[in-house]
Amino acid sequence: MTYQTINPYTAETVATFPFATDAEVDAAVDKAHTAFLSWRAVPVAERATLLGTAAALLREQKEQYARLLTLEMGKTINEARAEVDLSADILQWYADRGPELLQPRTLDHTNESGKEAYLVREPLGVLYTVEPWNFPFYQVVRVGAPQIVAGNTIILKHASNVPQSAAAMQKLFLDAGAPQGILTNLYVNRDQSARIIADERVRGVALTGSEDAGRIVSTQASQALKKSTLELGGADAYIVLPDADIDKAARWGAFGRHWNAGQVCCSSKRMIVVDDVYDKYMSAYTEEIGNLVPGDPFDETTTLAPLSSQKAADDVKALIKEAVEHGATATEYGSPVPSQGAFVQPTVLTDVAADNPVFHKEIFGPVSMVFRAKDEDDAIRIANDSPFGLGGSVFTENEAHGKAVAAQMETGMVYINHPTGVKADLPFGGVKHSGYGRELLDLGLFEFVNDKLVVVS
Ligand code: NAP
Repeated sequence: MTYQTINPYTAETVATFPFATDAEVDAAVDKAHTAFLSWRAVPVAERATLLGTAAALLREQKEQYARLLTLEMGKTINEARAEVDLSADILQWYADRGPELLQPRTLDHTNESGKEAYLVREPLGVLYTVEPWNFPFYQVVRVGAPQIVAGNTIILKHASNVPQSAAAMQKLFLDAGAPQGILTNLYVNRDQSARIIADERVRGVALTGSEDAGRIVSTQASQALKKSTLELGGADAYIVLPDADIDKAARWGAFGRHWNAGQVCCSSKRMIVVDDVYDKYMSAYTEEIGNLVPGDPFDETTTLAPLSSQKAADDVKALIKEAVEHGATATEYGSPVPSQGAFVQPTVLTDVAADNPVFHKEIFGPVSMVFRAKDEDDAIRIANDSPFGLGGSVFTENEAHGKAVAAQMETGMVYINHPTGVKADLPFGGVKHSGYGRELLDLGLFEFVNDKLVVVS
């Protein structure tokens, strides 16, 4: 394993970066801790100003940042621009709201001498964040913006295939005027990662990634008696009820399953369509897949990108094969994908029985599992028959009824008449094997603060 930029469309190795030495890791933890001791004393309004400056820099240099994303992980240039905008929106959200949210809270409490009691929200210290490659900027900002405004400092271990995006995040904060050590990118190996987690000066751990990585990293954190948050995988149900607007459901379904080449934790991975409208939905949905334009991700007209690496594409193909070996039917749709690049032809899996091992798995690519439900109750039953509980959708023209179905879904997020989304002003996170904790809004901000009680007697 090494940190490398490999263009997923051309397969060219663009750059290779050595692992940090142990001495560099120790120096980075020292620096992050020293930075924390000063940063926590900086007025919150000044910390917020830093985020606002970072947001402005991202917007000013949007094209340059977007091109780096497309180069390293292959998303289309339009998706990359949208990610830069979203990241800037999150930075700006915390620049605007952070100071108010971090104000001390007076408690409605009468103690013995009738004086006051209040909570102050203090930062914890150095936080270690482990992030995935699918949204190389958004993932970092989603944790970094709230925690930096809270007064914490960040050590970032990014995915090994997006080293330049990781370095760009560190540079963004320095360019915005952050002192050294506020956000430090490190190219660490697994042993070094474990050592950072064990270091007493590191006070919390946030990971976004797979279940396997989540298990290992959260175990290391709990052994060191420190808090972790986990944003893991998902297999979002996308329920289509008989009274749905089928064209709308099909159009959003094709988007929800194929944006970012299907490599989104909250992609619409399991479509559960009630029998009455199944055939109509399938016909409209597969027609929508036919409108996708696979190609060079730098081409403005491309709407279906390659996967992030040849290994990612091979893993998805292996899951399709496994599903078929256990009785599923795989049908390819859409324009043929290019012969070069880490592409997977959009595929629809049907007849995936509950005892098929793939039934309970997450497929991280342009592959839709489609289920025919007998009725609404059956659709909800299939939706909840998953180890994951990240997001989910229900399509119906009756909003009140949609809310009643939403109430029965075992997930952290439900969208009515829309795929699960990512927005700067909505929280994000799941239940079950999709992890614990929330990111964004005040929920994300307060994950790593000490709500210190002060009582005046
Ligand atoms: P992954 O292998 O878990 O990688 C994610 C990050 O964890 C990378 O930085 C990786 O580093 C690191 N990592 C893996 N094992 C580690 C260990 N033992 N110690 C320390 N770090 C470790 O995930 P992936 O398969 O590439 O990414 C896709 C997964 O992330 C999917 O399951 C997806 O659903 C999930 N995801 C979840 C969310 C969410 O918000 N819930 C968002 C996006 C993605 P290396 O690159 O060096 O291996």
